[in-house]
Amino acid sequence: MIEMDFSQPRHLMISVEKNGPDKLVKQSFPLRPGRYSEIRTRDFEFCFNLNGEIRSIRGLRPDWPHPAEQFKRTLGNDWVYYTVGDKSGGEGIVSWMGEYYLPCLPYAGNPVWEVNYFSNPVVMGAMAEWSQLFGDLYMAASKGLYPHAGDLIQRILANNDQVLHERSRRLNDIIGQRITVLPPDTRHVDYDVVPLNIADGCLYQCEFCCVKSDGKFQKRSKENILEQVAALKKYFGPDLDNYHALFLGNHDGLAAGKDLICFAAEAAYEALGFRPRAGSPPFLYLFGSVGSFLAGDRALFEQLNRLPFHTYINIGLESADQATLDRIGKPITAKQVETAFGKMLEINETFEQIEVTCNFIAGEDLPPGHDESLARLLENPRMTKKKKGAVYLSPLKDSPKKKRTPAAVLQHKGEKPRAGLYLSDPAALAGACRRQEEYPSTEKE
Ligand code: SF4
Repeated sequence: MIEMDFSQPRHLMISVEKNGPDKLVKQSFPLRPGRYSEIRTRDFEFCFNLNGEIRSIRGLRPDWPHPAEQFKRTLGNDWVYYTVGDKSGGEGIVSWMGEYYLPCLPYAGNPVWEVNYFSNPVVMGAMAEWSQLFGDLYMAASKGLYPHAGDLIQRILANNDQVLHERSRRLNDIIGQRITVLPPDTRHVDYDVVPLNIADGCLYQCEFCCVKSDGKFQKRSKENILEQVAALKKYFGPDLDNYHALFLGNHDGLAAGKDLICFAAEAAYEALGFRPRAGSPPFLYLFGSVGSFLAGDRALFEQLNRLPFHTYINIGLESADQATLDRIGKPITAKQVETAFGKMLEINETFEQIEVTCNFIAGEDLPPGHDESLARLLENPRMTKKKKGAVYLSPLKDSPKKKRTPAAVLQHKGEKPRAGLYLSDPAALAGACRRQEEYPSTEKE
């Protein structure tokens, strides 16, 4: 048990405003983008957003597992532990996942690799240190210490744990539904997106999916979208300056059609202050289904390509093998999946500002046709032509070789493909756990 002593505030090193790179830079050591505040104690580093909300905690002592590992708090008020795995640098996680860190959730989801950070008292001590820091700041404020940081301290004290919890609920109220999963491509902004719902439900109600909405697919009205945008602007406040990405939810935003997608994207762009950064436009993220993607005509993609965003559309293909699709209860055909895969390649070749990516399930106990059909698709020479069109693999729950599953599938191709693991829950804003009931679940469309 860690004892806390609030009678003598510890010395704090407070940086009221720090400026990182204008946009996220992927590298082996976390270089924080944007504007933020930082407080260091002897043993820990705490970072706060422009509203004074705690965003990350990193240990500084030699017994902290790795200097690049840290906790990050999501908009859903979950603390996610970012590990570098058993090897850092170029041979570590980045070699099979395309990212330097593996975000580990505080609850069971569909983990790709068991990382039991809960059992490490040094790591878990970070939360006790956060409580201690809060006490230190309370004491400092009452004694008038750190006058240069008075406003920052007040902002932090105004965002205690209860307030942070309430704020995560308020976000759900604004967008009218919890966001349970984000497109895997949001890893490019470390899952920091402004969520805006333009539709609810989905087209298929697949048997294997345990996060599907009850109701039928339904678009939101333009009035509802404008109300969300206005409320989101107020909700994020000054910290909007740190956001470079918009997610148009929920499970099949693409099915909302070009008029509503473009209306929402343009309204958000105008109101929320998105702008190009470091020479690149902001990102727009959407999920699409096989049905909505195949129904999308050229006019849709031309219009998306003209938006002031770089647009990522993530499609849940799951499998190009009919036996597998039947087994997971996905009501589409293998032929449709193959057609959608070909269309993905074509869109990526044609439109500069659009990248379509897709998801397949991966696991040990699937019909043999699954891996074979996936390998065949990945062998398409058009896959390597452009650096676009990542294929994500969603490992199945309880797969005994989760960490090796992607490599095993991708070996069929005999080269390093543009594929990565689909980390769903690390992106969850609302902290909802996707439970995999009868059959291992894969990602959402
Ligand atoms: S996998 Fe996609 S289409 Fe199927 S039920 Fe889930 S959200 Fe709906």
